[in-house]
Amino acid sequence: MSKIFQPMATELSDTGDKTEISRSHKLMIKYGIIKPCNVGMYALLPLGMRVLNKLINLVDKEMTNLGAEKILLPALTSTSLWKKTNRYDSNKNELFTIKDRHEKEYILSPTYEEAICDLISSTGSLSTKLLPLRLYQISSKWRDEMKPRLGFLRSREFIMKDLYTFDTNLDNAQYTYDLVCESYNNIFKQIGIKYEKVIGDVGTIGGLISHEYHYISNIGEDVILQCPSCYFSINQTISKTTNCPQCKNELQRHIAAEIGHTFLLNIKYSQPLKAMYVEQNELKPVVMGCFGLGLSRIIMLTIEILSTINEIRWPVKLAPYTVCIIPPKAGSKEENSSKYIEQLSEILCKRDIDTVLDDRTHLTIGKRFVLARALGFPYIIIIGKASTRSIPSFEVHDINNSVTNELSLEQINHYFDNINFK
Ligand SMILES: [Zn+2]
Repeated sequence: MSKIFQPMATELSDTGDKTEISRSHKLMIKYGIIKPCNVGMYALLPLGMRVLNKLINLVDKEMTNLGAEKILLPALTSTSLWKKTNRYDSNKNELFTIKDRHEKEYILSPTYEEAICDLISSTGSLSTKLLPLRLYQISSKWRDEMKPRLGFLRSREFIMKDLYTFDTNLDNAQYTYDLVCESYNNIFKQIGIKYEKVIGDVGTIGGLISHEYHYISNIGEDVILQCPSCYFSINQTISKTTNCPQCKNELQRHIAAEIGHTFLLNIKYSQPLKAMYVEQNELKPVVMGCFGLGLSRIIMLTIEILSTINEIRWPVKLAPYTVCIIPPKAGSKEENSSKYIEQLSEILCKRDIDTVLDDRTHLTIGKRFVLARALGFPYIIIIGKASTRSIPSFEVHDINNSVTNELSLEQINHYFDNINFK
């Protein structure tokens, strides 16, 4: 911990952010997870970057299972492509645009339907052997928000996973769409926070079918309507009814924050941008889907939902470190017990459990425990008084479940066998 770059704000009012802030946003700034740079723009500090990397790994695995290949498109998309799909004028107010030295205009991309179609088109035409094709990227996206607020909830730069799928016909594209929805379910189940899949608004992206993924949260900007007895859920903006169309129950209203969005696009982009495939010597536009996941939003909302007013809580799979070991204070009676650090580390290392040592031994155990709790490490092991007994034991705190056990090394070995971290 002594080596981690973690600039902390001492006062809550000291966040250095002039926009509207929420609990999660405040905690992330206070404990050095993020740092505001410009209005609606944030630096991810080392602890925050570890969280993002864990989320990226989780998403990468699911995308690989889906047969999707990872790419990286340039941040800048030529404005001329957005003019071909008529999205430039309708979105102009929220687009960051820049000109190069030759006066050619570009957009700092908020989304990549045009860019990916142009990439496909520039390769000629796709052979049916290559289809279905699934390409995704994880990168920063930009939107010049009128009113940035609530940190990563409505920031001007955000991190998104965007997947684009290409099929020969609508049936196949629908099959792909369902597969992606399944992989989204897998991702959200692993994060472990209850999520809602609702019938979504196709909005400015367009297409035939759309679903949104939400976390229920008061800081959200959407209202979703849900049937209390069947699975029917819909975004209020497209609902023309207050009752469930299936079982006629009155729909319940929840404030929610969007974390993912899926679209069955059909040929809306592939046709004007000539992303084609060849079948029996005939050129046809590929049938597309696009699928977004707001990674920076997911990180912020998990904190918003799980944390207390003063302490961050993480889903175990996203915590910056899973375990924090707190050794005795320098010069204390227990100082000699520091020798157990090695044995404890070994137990955790052989299970690939990422662990941080709070080596700031000029601080008391109590002070470091308070800090470790506030940062939300899911497990904290304290080498305290009990470590000087003939059979040494250690306090093992399961922070998310508020359970503390006093365990010997052998018991700790056993304890971590029974927890599923992968
Ligand atoms: Zn119903």
